[in-house]
Amino acid sequence: MNEPNTNLNQKNSVIITGVSLHPIRTPRVSGDDSQHVLIRLKTDSGLEGVGEYADITDLPLTMPDLNDLQKSLSNLLCGQNAMELARLDHLLSLLFTGRGDTGIYTGSLRAGIEMALHDLAGKALDVPVYVLFGGPVRTRIKVCFPIFRNFSDQHIEQNLAMVERLLGEGFDVFRLYIGAAPDFDEKFLAALRHQIGDQITMQSFDLSNHVHPSDAVRLINRCRKYYEPQYVESVAPTQDLDGMADVRRRLDIPVSEHVGDSRHAIRMWEARAVDIINVANSAHGGMRESLKVFAVAEALGLRTILSTTQETSLGTAAEAHVGAAVLNVHYPTVAIGPILYTEDPARNRIRYADGYMIVPDGPGLGIEIDWEKVEALRYQIGWREYGIDHSVPDIHDLQWKVNISTGLKGMRKK
Ligand code: MG
Repeated sequence: MNEPNTNLNQKNSVIITGVSLHPIRTPRVSGDDSQHVLIRLKTDSGLEGVGEYADITDLPLTMPDLNDLQKSLSNLLCGQNAMELARLDHLLSLLFTGRGDTGIYTGSLRAGIEMALHDLAGKALDVPVYVLFGGPVRTRIKVCFPIFRNFSDQHIEQNLAMVERLLGEGFDVFRLYIGAAPDFDEKFLAALRHQIGDQITMQSFDLSNHVHPSDAVRLINRCRKYYEPQYVESVAPTQDLDGMADVRRRLDIPVSEHVGDSRHAIRMWEARAVDIINVANSAHGGMRESLKVFAVAEALGLRTILSTTQETSLGTAAEAHVGAAVLNVHYPTVAIGPILYTEDPARNRIRYADGYMIVPDGPGLGIEIDWEKVEALRYQIGWREYGIDHSVPDIHDLQWKVNISTGLKGMRKK
């Protein structure tokens, strides 16, 4: 398995000689922080490729042993020709199958490795990664800013001030998380309507799969009195496709949902559960899998959104290269991690200007990692600091115990 393909001539060959893993922690403006692992590939040509295993949550209460993972990845990749992207990605798809509902997390690891391979291939050919995918069809992508949940009058004040500030910076598309405290949702929207009015576009209301479908319909109807969203997202529990389809039938608003892979998108379409699918490299296992999801969406007539908010500049660049290479992106992207993190391992962060994300145009992913910064952000990844909620939740607040499956506090980002 470690034998490089000898049919290729020297010019088309970049042999991987080493793999190293670099765990970091980056704080968010919200006060949360996220843990990531940078995957650094060295080669016989002197080129280096870097990928991001972003915002690790992995299996509840477990984390990868990075020494062991480094050995596994070295065993897998050393001696391989990084230019053979299709073959190596197929191999990754066989190895990172996930188990049960954890595929999404191994997807993030697979995406990090695939990112590093594409970074290398682009650098070897001296082209941006989007060129490998047939782009660019666009060089900048309009962005949509999240407004996180309103639980109190203080949140409302903070969120109103944030919208004012961002509007001043040229961001005029927003999406709002609702459903945690419906009275505060409505109070916030009334204040936003009064203070900001039509200066902004409300891209979506996101219910994060936490609300019963019937309650979702009622809540969305309450909220749409203030702003008519272009779509509503995650309107039923994750696996409840019938519930999503029910909400979709009862509202004349398009419904969107995150998908795990292209087969998942097909199942949702078959259930008539969605109009729009939310595409993210870290969920699917990398850029090539995202391209498959976009192709399936095109064939099925589903619209798409490019995610996600959880990556630093490196992972966001991978999203940007996909967004620069596909025609069927239908809404502003929600990939704004580099704005939400106060620290970033990149020397050249992803740039946002006038409400757009600028697609990096340097070779590979176009992001130069500052390894001194990586050292400064170094962090031994783990779950240890998250509090465990031992109480029996009341039925009415069950869905707001942050993470229903684990009972862990600290995963507050969605
Ligand atoms: Mg969402």
